[in-house]
Amino acid sequence: MPTLLSETTWQKSLAQAIRDPQELISRLNLPEELLEPARKSAHLFPVMVPISYLNRIEPANLNDPLLKQILPIDLENAFVPGFEADAVGDLNVRATPGMLQKYHGRALLMVSGACAIHCRYCFRRHYPYGDEPRTLQEWEPVWQTLQADSTIQEIILSGGDPLLLTDLRFHDLCERIAAIPHVKRLRIHSRLPVVLPDRIHAGLLEMLQRLSEQGTMPWMVIHVNHPNEIAADVEHAIRQLLQAGIPVLNQSVLLKGINDTTETLIALSEKLVNLGVLPYYLHQLDRVTGTAHFEVPEAQGRKLIEELRTRLPGYAVPQYVREIPGEPHKTSLLG
Ligand SMILES: *Cc1c(COP(=O)(O)O)cnc(C)c1O
Ligand code: SF4
Repeated sequence: MPTLLSETTWQKSLAQAIRDPQELISRLNLPEELLEPARKSAHLFPVMVPISYLNRIEPANLNDPLLKQILPIDLENAFVPGFEADAVGDLNVRATPGMLQKYHGRALLMVSGACAIHCRYCFRRHYPYGDEPRTLQEWEPVWQTLQADSTIQEIILSGGDPLLLTDLRFHDLCERIAAIPHVKRLRIHSRLPVVLPDRIHAGLLEMLQRLSEQGTMPWMVIHVNHPNEIAADVEHAIRQLLQAGIPVLNQSVLLKGINDTTETLIALSEKLVNLGVLPYYLHQLDRVTGTAHFEVPEAQGRKLIEELRTRLPGYAVPQYVREIPGEPHKTSLLG
C-alpha cells in the first residue's frame, strides 16, 4: 500500500531530525564556542532541525539566513522590556480548550503541540501546549461549540504543526469537519511542506481532495521566510498541492539579518509566485521573550514594502501586518 509507505517515510524523516546542539554544530562546521550558548538556550526551547532543512544551510557560514532561524544563541536569554511570554493575547481568547476564536467567522484549533522545526523567533515558544486536549474525548467540547455556532465558516488548523498528526488522526479530523454543514473552508497553517516536504504524500492529498468534494474547501498556508528555503523537494511538495487543486498561500515573519532587505523579499516573492503560491502576510515580529534580536523597526518594514510595490505585481506584495491583542483583525502597518 503506497499510502502506508509514504506515511512511514515522513515519520522516519521526522525521527532523523537533529535535536542535539553538538550535532548541529559539528555537521555545519560551526565554531566550537557556539556550543555552550546553544546548549544553554536549548534548555528553554530545544533544537529541532530536519535533515532536509539542514541540507539547505551553507556549512561554516555564520550569516546563513536559514542557520539564524534554527541555531540557539545567547541573545535569547537577554531581558528586553516590552517582550513578554503571551504577546499576542492567546490565553485570553481560549473559550474552549483547544480552540481560539479571535476573528469573526473563523475558529482556530490547536490540534498539535509539536513542530518539526524549532524556529528561534517563534511566537508560541512559551505557549502552554500541555493544557490542550489530547484524547479524542477531550475534543468533544470543541466539536460541540463549532456545531452550535453557524457563524463559523472556516476552521483554521494550527498548533504547533497540524500536519504532524498521523494520517489516521488527520482523517478523523477531516471527517468531523466535513460533517459540520456551515463550515465551508478548512485552512491548514503548516511549515511541513517547507521543512519536511515528504509529509505531502498521496494519502494526504487524497484526504484533502475528498474534503473539497464534500463541500469544505481546503486551503494551505505555508511559512517561508527566505528564498533559500525553497529547495527542489519543497518545490515538488508545493506543485503536488497545487495539482491537487489546493490553493497555497505563504506567510513570512520579517526577521533582522534574515529577510530584511528589498532584494531578499523580492527574490522570495518571485520564487513563490513563479510556483503559483500567493504571498499573503509579512508579519511584524510578535514581541515574545527571547526574540528581541530578530525585531526589525516598523518604519523599515514600511519602507521595504513601498520598495516591493515599485518592483513587483500587486499580487506578489504581501500584506504587512501585526497582531494587536483585542483587535477584530490583523492590523495593517501601512497606515
Ligand atoms: C491570525 C489568526 C487567524 C487568521 O487571520 P486571517 O487574517 O484570516 O488570516 C485566525 N485566528 C487567530 C486566533 C489568529 O491568530
Ligand atoms: S513551525 Fe511555526 S509554530 Fe513551530 S516553531 Fe516554527 S514558527 Fe513556531
